[in-house]
Formats: sequence, structure tokens, C-alpha cells
Amino acid sequence: MNRNDLLRDTYLEVNLDALEHNINEIKKVIGSEVEIAAAVKSNGYGYGSTHIAPTLYNNGVKYLAVANLLEAVELKNSNPHYNVFIMGHTPDYYLEIAVKYNLTITIFSYNQAKLLSEIGGKFNKTISVHIKYDTGFNRLGFKYGNKSMKEISKIFKLNNLYIEGVFSHLSLKSYESDLEQLSRFKCLINYLEKNNLYPKYYHICDSISGIDYPDFRLDMIRPGAAIYGLKSFKSKDISLKNIGIFKSKISSIKTLLEGEGVSYDYMWISKKETKIATVPFGYGDGYPRNMFGKGEVTVNNIRCPIVGVLCMDQCIIDVSNIQNPYVGQEVIIWSDGSDNTVSIQELSEKAGTNKNEIVARITRRVPRVYMKNDEISSVSNYLL
Ligand SMILES: *Cc1c(COP(=O)(O)O)cnc(C)c1O
Repeated sequence: MNRNDLLRDTYLEVNLDALEHNINEIKKVIGSEVEIAAAVKSNGYGYGSTHIAPTLYNNGVKYLAVANLLEAVELKNSNPHYNVFIMGHTPDYYLEIAVKYNLTITIFSYNQAKLLSEIGGKFNKTISVHIKYDTGFNRLGFKYGNKSMKEISKIFKLNNLYIEGVFSHLSLKSYESDLEQLSRFKCLINYLEKNNLYPKYYHICDSISGIDYPDFRLDMIRPGAAIYGLKSFKSKDISLKNIGIFKSKISSIKTLLEGEGVSYDYMWISKKETKIATVPFGYGDGYPRNMFGKGEVTVNNIRCPIVGVLCMDQCIIDVSNIQNPYVGQEVIIWSDGSDNTVSIQELSEKAGTNKNEIVARITRRVPRVYMKNDEISSVSNYLL
């Protein structure tokens, strides 16, 4: 790796072989009849959507699924051949842009479907659409019921639209409540079948449901977390790998006397002579600020507590247990939990959040380094 590609000691290492392994594990579990729409929203859960997309694509995912038009355009600009699906709302005034980029658009109102049909006419294009049906999550989608089912069937009759999919999203409150949502979805499926309407894909599953509920998979699942090795499902029949290591290097070392304070407000005061090190990462990189008093990082396979309040760009760690620490020495902020590293799971529990948030929050100030066969295959630096 050329230092000039990074210009920083703090970076996220992404293992593309582990990513490939994870997709293939998911494929093994769901079988060849079920397609995958890989959720790469929020910059691929922080791992870098445009850089992980080729691996996902080369391993047979049908769709790259994002939350909004901006994310979709970023992917299309990186490769116009990708099938990109916007799972969120696209406001009316952005529909023409979405059509220009050949995106698959989520629709959940008849009026917007009609407008999109007119845009299709104007540009002489058939626009690929997935209709969202709200089976109880109460976020986006036609609210379940007869009125919506009628409206949805009307959308199928509009010109210039290809209703490729109909989908919903589970709350995951309990298996019973998820079953109730599925049965509402199946009610719609029956209704459409009775009207001879057959979209290519029905889908309702994210990672957890896609892995744990075989009967919910239908034609396609939309895993995000699982692809990145973030395990919240129960199944033991799938072995996923962590794909990221968040790394930094010590920038300064000093020894404190007993009673000296550290960082803003001196929230931590040394109880004895203590060797501390400064590390150039902080909440500006997406690391949770509330790790003050409980955060740890790993140096030379040994845990070092974060002392004092985390700053935006730096934090201070206690390196008393490290023999001969040095400036430039590697610091593992989080990894897979092996070799005494903090796992994403551990960090998310301590930070009082979920694993997705820990990775999705990593900001674009952090360069991403992509590994393949234990070698660097590319570097992504958003600031250059
Ligand atoms: C984010 C998202 C997913 C993927 O969720 P995971 O829990 O990460 O697998 C699936 N569907 C929709 C609509 C989403 O917004």
C-alpha cells in the first residue's frame, strides 16, 4: 500500500474474500431458486458500496439495494451495468433522474405510479418497479387491506411500467407477529393471482428472516447485515465471517504522574504513574463517543482501556500493560474478537446500539483498504 493513497494512519481494512465467502454461504442456505438483493445502503454499511459491489455482483447477486436515489446514482456511476434497486421513497421531482439511470424504483401510491407511467411514455422507456406493501411495519408501503390491493392491481394496468416485484418488510418483533405479516402479504399474493397478475419477485426477508425463516423466502431476500458477517440470526447452519478490521496507529506516548487529568474536563485522573498513548481516531470517524469509561482497543494482542473523554479526532489509551509501546505501533479499534480484539458485537453492546450502526457510522474521512488473497487489491479514499 502506498502511504500517499491513505494520507492517514486510521483506516478500515475490508476483506473481500470474507465477503465472497458470506454471499456463497447465504446462497447455500437459500438455494438456487431464491435471488439475492444485497443491501448496500449507507455506503455498504460503511464498507464502501462501490468497492464491494463487484464482489457481490460477480457472485451472482441479482440486485444492489440502496435506500435512495443518491446512493443509487453513486453505484450506477461506478458501473452502469449494475441492477440497482431503490428500496426507499423517490420524490416525484426526482423520478426522471431515476428513469434516466435505469433504476428499479419502489412505488407505493397509485398517483406516483401514474406519473412514472407518463415519464416512461415521455422517454419511450419501460420502467422497472417494485411495489411496496405495508403488512404492519408502518413505515413505507400501501397499508394492507382491500383498498390497497385494488389500487395495486390497477398499477399493473399502467403503460410503460414493468411491475417486476412486490415486497414488504418484517418488524421481527416475534415469529408470531412476523407470521401475521407474512399472511397479510400472502393475502395480496392470492388477490393478484386471482386477477392473473404475476410479478416476477415477491420478497419480504432481510438477513435474519431470510436465514431463520425458510418459509418466508419467496422469490428473493434482501440481506444486508449477513453479507457483512454481522450475525443476529439464530441458525447454526451458516458460518459467516467478519469482513472488517478498524485500525489505527499510536501518535504520541507520555507518562503521567499520579493525579494528572486527561482530555476535556479531566474526566479521567491517573491513580498512579501511568503510561498513556494518543491514537488518531475519534467520534469524527464514527466511533461512538459514549465509549468513555468503557471502551478498549487492542495493542499487540493486549487490551488497552480508553481513558478520558473521546475527542472528535483523537483518543487516549492506557498503555501501561504494553511492553515498550512506540509511536507508529498498530492499534486495533475493532475486529472479529480474535487475538483479544474487540468485536463489533462487543462494541455495539457497550455502546448501547446494534452492530449495523457501528459499521454504518464510519465516516468518509476513514480510507478503506480492500484485501484479496491477503494482499491489498485497492484503496478507496473519499477525500482525494
Ligand atoms: C436495510 C434493509 C434490509 C437489510 O436489512 P439487514 O437487517 O441488514 O439484513 C432489507 N430490506 C429493507 C427494506 C431495508 O431497508
